[in-house]
Amino acid sequence: MNIETLKDAPLLVVGAGIMGAGIAQVAAQAGHPVMLFDLREGAAAETKAKLGKSLDALAAKGKLTAQEAAQTLSRIEAVASMEAAASARLVVEAVVEKLDVKRALFRQLEGIVGADCVLATNTSSISVTAIANGLQRPGRLVGMHFFNPVPLMRLVEVVSGLQTEPAVAQAIHELSRHWGKVPVHARSTPGFIVNRIARPYYAETLALLQERAGTPALLDACLRAAGFRMGPCELMDLIGHDTNFSVTQSVFEANFFDKRFVPSLVQRELVDGGLLGRKSGRGFYDYAEGAVKPAVPEHAPVGLPAATILSLHGQGPVAQRLREALTAGGRGFEPVPDSDWVGLEIDGAQLRLTDGRPASQVGAGEVAEVAVFDLPLSALAGAVLAWAPAAQASPAWCELAPRWLRALGFNAQRLADTPGLVVARTIAMLINEAADAVHQGVCDEGGADAAMKLGVNYPQGPFEWLRAWDAAAVIALLDALDVHYRGERYRVSPGLRLRAWGQGARKVECIGGGA
Ligand code: NAD
Repeated sequence: MNIETLKDAPLLVVGAGIMGAGIAQVAAQAGHPVMLFDLREGAAAETKAKLGKSLDALAAKGKLTAQEAAQTLSRIEAVASMEAAASARLVVEAVVEKLDVKRALFRQLEGIVGADCVLATNTSSISVTAIANGLQRPGRLVGMHFFNPVPLMRLVEVVSGLQTEPAVAQAIHELSRHWGKVPVHARSTPGFIVNRIARPYYAETLALLQERAGTPALLDACLRAAGFRMGPCELMDLIGHDTNFSVTQSVFEANFFDKRFVPSLVQRELVDGGLLGRKSGRGFYDYAEGAVKPAVPEHAPVGLPAATILSLHGQGPVAQRLREALTAGGRGFEPVPDSDWVGLEIDGAQLRLTDGRPASQVGAGEVAEVAVFDLPLSALAGAVLAWAPAAQASPAWCELAPRWLRALGFNAQRLADTPGLVVARTIAMLINEAADAVHQGVCDEGGADAAMKLGVNYPQGPFEWLRAWDAAAVIALLDALDVHYRGERYRVSPGLRLRAWGQGARKVECIGGGA
């Protein structure tokens, strides 16, 4: 089995819905004769007609020539039965997400196609190993997980079940690349790569909402400022809470109810109430005509407040950024690079980058005048940044701390005193999940980074964040969350701990400060 036997070979797409249509288009554009079959009579022909219109629209926009559009369409044939596809060298299945339906389909296909035909499933959540169970040749079944919309999304997770032959997975990997996609190998485990690693992006915000730490608009704004195209609340509204909740539930169940993946009561209430997001007109936000989406207030730039004694603690990118802002403001300060925290000491009060402990826990030590701020990932001036004061802090410090943050170039927004605030805990949890996936051999680091950037448009991959941060600092943050909440959610991946120990001998410049 190799890619040469698959290039331009006849291909059968089963299921002419959203995904099947996209897969047929991409394969035909790459030069394959494509047969398209759907159980519902007339559905394949309807899909072909719709594809004709969208290919014409692409030609009108200059994305294809009229000839390419016509050739692509001419390669697609709606077939009335799968028997017509005996010559297929590859079958891609995109039917309903049900194990028994997919199993029965592939068993039937084994009686139709030749012995060297590769069988691929576009399942987004079912075990490839389970789908292959009962096949005469389970080694030729592989997951080929496209993302919606298929012609635009470049990622393909090439998913190997327990019995998938490595040569089959490799041939599909190379074929996907030939189709202009970015394929990533994945082992068949719950959620594969993207749907697994992405869980904390939603879960952390839902956890913060459950304890009323901030509004959806504020949490969204914090994560957008960190480079995400959409905040978790607006993204869940777009995906639909029913769909998002069911993916979360299936990952939870498939992991034998591991508490790390517990779904959220906040989301269940939305689903129970029919507040499904954009499609129902209301989710976290109101989509009724004329409804105004709440926005986070902006603040005019302010000058640095007065201070008699000013010290800059720690080192690493955040300390460097504070140093530059102080220098630009013409303010002298005493550097304390070997401090075990990052931030400013202002006349005895502390403005600290979160290390995962709530401000009140830090403030229970020697200094009561404490405020913590979130991990600033945006280099943009005026980017939203969450902060929280310690419960023991005086009203004067609660008023002064955000003024300092604003003067340092952030749009400081107050959040309830929660460990790890918004961005730091979310990024730490994404890193942790990715490290666990790699530790369990689900994918490699490059695969995890590519999958998250291309499958869900993350601004950076989890291992890119980790390289800019430091495994020890991420672990310290997660351990602080674990102490605060107990339970299993913040359990550190053994892979991350091993990595930190491996780095232990080296001096690592880290955002979390210290050496
Ligand atoms: P869809 O409902 O749009 O289309 C499914 C099609 O399959 C329907 O036209 C239906 O008539 C047909 N069908 C059902 N049973 C069949 C059978 N036994 N034989 C032939 N045709 C049959 O669904 P979709 O969104 O295109 O999803 C298809 C698959 O792709 C699912 O496994 C889904 O999990 C997966 N997937 C979906 C997305 C997405 O965003 N929609 C993304 C990735 C993967």
